[in-house]
Amino acid sequence: MPTDPFETHDVLNQSPVFEDINLFETDLALQDAVRREGGGWAEDELRAFGAATGSARGFEIGRLANENAPKLHRFDQKGRPADRVEFHPAYHDAMAMSCVAGLHCRAWDDVGGPDGTPPATGRHVARLGHIYMITQMEPGHVCPITMTHASVPTLRLEPRIYDQLAPKLMARNYDARFVPWTAKGGITIGMGMTEKQGGTDVRANSTRATPVSAGGPGAEYQLVGHKWFMSAPMSDAFLMLAQAPGGLSCFFFPRFLPDGTINALRLQRLKDKLGNHSNASSEVELHNAHGWLIGEEGRGVATIIEMVTMTRLDCAVASAGQMRLALALATHHCRHRTVFQKRLIDQPLMAHVLADMALDVEAATALAFRLARAFDRAGSEEAEAAWRRVMTPVTKYWVCKIAPALGYEALECLGGNGYVEDGLAARLYRELPLNAIWEGSGNVMCLDLLRVLAQDGDQVRQVLAEMGAAASGDRRLEAALAEIEALITTPADRESNARLLLEAIALLAAATLLRAHAPTIVADAFIASRVGAAYRSTYGANAAIADAQGIVARVFPAA
Ligand SMILES: Cc1cc2nc3c(=O)[nH]c(=O)nc-3n(C[C@H](O)[C@H](O)[C@H](O)COP(=O)(O)OP(=O)(O)OC[C@H]3O[C@@H](n4cnc5c(N)ncnc54)[C@H](O)[C@@H]3O)c2cc1C
Repeated sequence: MPTDPFETHDVLNQSPVFEDINLFETDLALQDAVRREGGGWAEDELRAFGAATGSARGFEIGRLANENAPKLHRFDQKGRPADRVEFHPAYHDAMAMSCVAGLHCRAWDDVGGPDGTPPATGRHVARLGHIYMITQMEPGHVCPITMTHASVPTLRLEPRIYDQLAPKLMARNYDARFVPWTAKGGITIGMGMTEKQGGTDVRANSTRATPVSAGGPGAEYQLVGHKWFMSAPMSDAFLMLAQAPGGLSCFFFPRFLPDGTINALRLQRLKDKLGNHSNASSEVELHNAHGWLIGEEGRGVATIIEMVTMTRLDCAVASAGQMRLALALATHHCRHRTVFQKRLIDQPLMAHVLADMALDVEAATALAFRLARAFDRAGSEEAEAAWRRVMTPVTKYWVCKIAPALGYEALECLGGNGYVEDGLAARLYRELPLNAIWEGSGNVMCLDLLRVLAQDGDQVRQVLAEMGAAASGDRRLEAALAEIEALITTPADRESNARLLLEAIALLAAATLLRAHAPTIVADAFIASRVGAAYRSTYGANAAIADAQGIVARVFPAA
């Protein structure tokens, strides 16, 4: 009986709040992937980060940062242009957590964290282990963190600019003040590519850049035009595309000019988005603003492509992390919720649904971290350079695209509690489609794969040879490889079939990784239900799962 006279009933049979769960310790697939792909040296740090990101405080930061969306102040109280965005303190807390962990810089710095210089290999893997977890806590702020990390290879193309920025970029410090970057203890960098008339087709950009004097690499230009989507507008600087006399070019665009005055960037409005509410995404205009050329005039796409490539890896890893959170929420609830006198997790049908979802989470995690390994080693190993080039579009496409369907199924596992704003599921559901859209949406990834085929066919053959070796002895995998080879050697209608080809490569890659590294119950069920002619359109419709409880227990072990 209730003890409080004003209570009408005891609250029974509700699952405990999902919090104070170490996101590293409870995730065997993540642990395996990090160790296998070369980031095992960061395990202690990842364990501590898993505790912080999965803590009650961590999830509260996520809630507050999203329920209190950023506010645009176009003018100050006296009517002067202000062009500032005000964030809830929780957003700054999330940014500080990521910056102190070095998630904006640790793949590049030579100094390393508090424990000294990290090993030469595995830095991307170690960094992404953190990203996989903090995106579960609060995904919106990961946008500026990712962009800052990703800007480094492009900025390095212009050492006169990069060398000045480097100490601030590499500082494990979050400084939110709106002051010139030179006065700050740490900085973040954004990206301004998309315009109204073209996002994917950046060559259609209309923003104009006129040289202030002679022009050329490192020189100052005046920019006039707009950007239709520009996230994290309070970043200290942006990499921005604009049309110079020599064609589309890439510029370093600071919020403050060297004389300390504010660059003429006018924030028009903030996007009213489906999700991703903690992150401010702005529409902006450039009124004779100033930028400095990076790379050659006319080489804008080639210059910024390194940044974009880096962000694609982050998208894939973040989506895998978000899928894992969705599955963990569902599993957690089903462990504690009893329906018809039996826990949901013990009901064969629900266990089957959870196990089927777990197969995709295992596959997404394995693929994403395999790609991270390729980023770590591409500079010194030819096979890894091939994997990076071929598998970036494949992994980004497949992982980010399957995530929303998994999120939806996980939400349904929570019943009505999944469809309300209390808890994490509804917010997560709104976030899940985003990684597939930005940084090259689905079809763009497919066209990128076709580009590799046309320009670097040897790299595709090298990657397929590696998969062939890993498929050897399994007739289903060998048949899947033969199917891929047939699709590649049939040039007719290649563009229409690009999704077919990309998906086949993704599934074969995931299947061979799971075959080599995951428990047999996971690998067998994945291969039998996902590879080749296997067809299923909803989770749980899968006759190949032999041990549903075993699969679920592996992916999210009971406390
Ligand atoms: C929340 C959010 C934040 C963002 N932040 C930034 C930012 O900070 N900086 C920035 O520069 N941009 C940003 N963007 C923009 C984003 O990168 C673009 O929306 C994205 O690149 C797609 O461009 P688009 O919207 O112009 O769509 P379009 O280019 O018009 O594409 C529409 C659809 O057509 C498909 N498509 C395109 N070309 C082809 C083709 N040849 N064949 C078949 N299909 C094709 C695409 O895959 C897509 O599905 C953001 C977007 C969102 C949603």
